[in-house]
This record gives sequence, structure tokens and C-alpha cells, in this order.
Amino acid sequence: MAPRQIYYFDNNATTRVAPEVVTAMLPFLTEHWGNPSSAYHFGHDLTKAIEAAREKVAALIGADPREVLFTSCGTESDNAALHSALATHPQKKHVLTTAVEHSAILNFCEFLKKRGYEVTCLPVESDGSLDLHLLEKSIRPDTAVVSVMWANNETGVVFPIEEIAAICHSKGVLFHTDAVQAAGKTTIDVRSVGPDFLSLSAHKLHAPKGVGLLYVKRRTRFQPFVIGGHQERGRRGGTENVVGMVAFGCAAELALARFEDENTRVRALRDRLEGGVLKTVPQTLRVGAKEPRLPNTSNIAFDGVEAEAILLQLDQVGVCASSGSACTTGSLDPSHVLTAMGLSPGRARGCIRFSLGYYNTDADVDHVLKHLPGIIEKLRAHSPERSVPPGNATAAVTLH
Ligand SMILES: *Cc1c(COP(=O)(O)O)cnc(C)c1O
Repeated sequence: MAPRQIYYFDNNATTRVAPEVVTAMLPFLTEHWGNPSSAYHFGHDLTKAIEAAREKVAALIGADPREVLFTSCGTESDNAALHSALATHPQKKHVLTTAVEHSAILNFCEFLKKRGYEVTCLPVESDGSLDLHLLEKSIRPDTAVVSVMWANNETGVVFPIEEIAAICHSKGVLFHTDAVQAAGKTTIDVRSVGPDFLSLSAHKLHAPKGVGLLYVKRRTRFQPFVIGGHQERGRRGGTENVVGMVAFGCAAELALARFEDENTRVRALRDRLEGGVLKTVPQTLRVGAKEPRLPNTSNIAFDGVEAEAILLQLDQVGVCASSGSACTTGSLDPSHVLTAMGLSPGRARGCIRFSLGYYNTDADVDHVLKHLPGIIEKLRAHSPERSVPPGNATAAVTLH
């Protein structure tokens, strides 16, 4: 099969491994395959590569390298943060989070509920924002940890993490933030923002899947989630994924170097795509606040059309996009994020997320803008409920 040109607009699901990252990884798949815990040089020398990588990922978030531990993925980091907060505060049985978190948090909370914990999921406004007054009021004396994502993976909406951290600290409660989507797209400085825990994932940053990071603020007590050997200074067992760590370090360095590109060129591509679709396709609207929002993400509702049908047609012309989080694709339920924002199930089922990245070009955007209006027109013509009254198109979502 001849390789087909793809137009990749699903960077919030995963990203292409950067060629620079592949180059950095290769020696650790060929010559340097030892075990870092070994006494002899052939293995032990690998700790230098690990520590160099640790410095680079720490630099991406303004942390001290001793405050970051490598994990197997963003999901593990999220689970580990909540687990540690609860295990180190056995008298506290309550977790406060939001209704729009990633399944790595929400499904772990479901598990916690079965184990006797109480979980409060804060609602969001129709533009995806949080009511901080409500957040503050919802912190209880028995709240062990508050977990709020830095930026939402489906809409790109950015939460005011600095203010949330301040509220948590004024109440003496631990604060975790899932910053998987924020890294490389918005400035993260743990020193000035002050979370106790922060999660990242390498594969959202042009490194391979299967490596994550958990920041644990200095002096915050930590109870390991993966228990085994003394790796990661006793905070995570398991023989180190040296090649993954090296990859993550290289990707973190690239992300810092490309931060400007993300916030100028990629943002302009996203705005041109979004503006073009909203202008050329009738009965569409942007979902979620316009700002503050990640520079790469656009979620658009196409009223009267099923997202899955749009995605199939886009796939025919090589366009990769998504109808929400990859982790929930396959279920027919509308996205929990869009539902929490008050979209009707019908409208939520017609939303497409475009997430751009470093490798997108103007030609990619032109390609979508060329094909999408015709695709939607064709699908609407074949849809049984073809006449959605235009008045409905702005009912549930606040436009800014
Ligand atoms: C992708 C993602 C995760 C999960 O990271 P994995 O490394 O795939 O486990 C967690 N949170 C958010 C917001 C994500 O986008």
C-alpha cells in the first residue's frame, strides 16, 4: 500500500515523534542497553543520561530535578498523585475535582468511590470555565486533595491554576494539576504557581508513548504508587525506561525551543482554520471560551451532523481529527466534557476537535478548508433531521 499523505489534526491525542528525539534515542536502543542499577560501568553510566534527561524535563516546568520522577505515562502520574495524597492523609476521605478531567482522573475517582472515598466533581460553565467561588466553598475539612487540569484536552480551555493553587494553600489542602495538555503550549512555572503535584506525558510532546512525569513539590510527603526497587530515589519501582526518559528529555528541550512557534505560527494556523470553518460552514459554532485557551486547539459544533460521519469523510481525504478524547472514542455516549458544558446530547455528538502542532502547515489548513464545507453539506443533505432551525445554533453555548 502506497503511503498516503495525511493531514494530522489530532495532536491532543498523540504527536509525531520528532526526528531529533529518534536520533537521541537510538544509542540507547543499540549500544547502551544496560541496567542503570548495575554496579559495573556499562550499566551504571546510564544514570548520567537519566539525570541529564531529568534536568531537561524539570526545566520545562521550572522545577528542581529532584522534584520530578519519571513514570510510565500521564495516567500513572495522575493516579499516583491522588493515591499519594490520600495515603499520606489517611484521616481525610474526600477528593475535589472537576467534571471535565481526563479519564485518568475521573475513572480513578470512580475506583476511589468504590473504596469508600467521597468525590466531588465541580460543574463548569457553558464556556467551559470554573466557578472559583464554588471551588473554594467545596473544599471540606476532610478534603485530602484538589485535582484540576491545567488545560482541557477536548476544548483547550485553560483554567486559572495559579488562583486555584492559592485557594488550596489558603485552605491547607494539597493541589494536583494534570498539565499534560499545557506543556509546551503555555508557560508552566511550578515555582510561581505552586502546585504540590503536576503530571506530564511525553507522547503529547513529540516523544514516544509510555513515559510520563510526576512533579512532587519539595517537602510534600510522597507515598509511591508503583512499589518495587529503589529506582527514582525510592519513589517509583521498576527498571528505568532509559530510552523513554532520554526521549522525554530531548522532547522537553524541543518544546521550550518551540514555545514561540506554538504561540505564534501554530496559533495563527488554528485561528485561520477555526475562522474559516465558522465562516464557510453554516450552523457551526466554537465550543468553549475563546480565551484563555491553548493555542493549538479548536472544538467546533456542526449542528445536525454526527461527528463520526464527519470523521469518516475527513479520513477519506487523509484528515485525522477527533470527536473528543481518544480514550472515549468507540463509545456512543457524547463526551463528558461537552455534556458538562451543557451541550445537548445531539449537539455534543456533532462536535469535532482539531488539535494542531509543530508539523502542521498552511497547506494542511487549506486542505481542510477546501474539503470540509462540501462534506458537511453532503452529510446534511442525507441526514433525516436535515432542518435544524438556525435559531438553535447558539442556544447552549456562550460565544465570546
Ligand atoms: C493524554 C492525556 C492524559 C494521559 O496521558 P497518557 O500518557 O496517554 O497516559 C492525561 N491527561 C490529559 C489531559 C491528557 O490529554
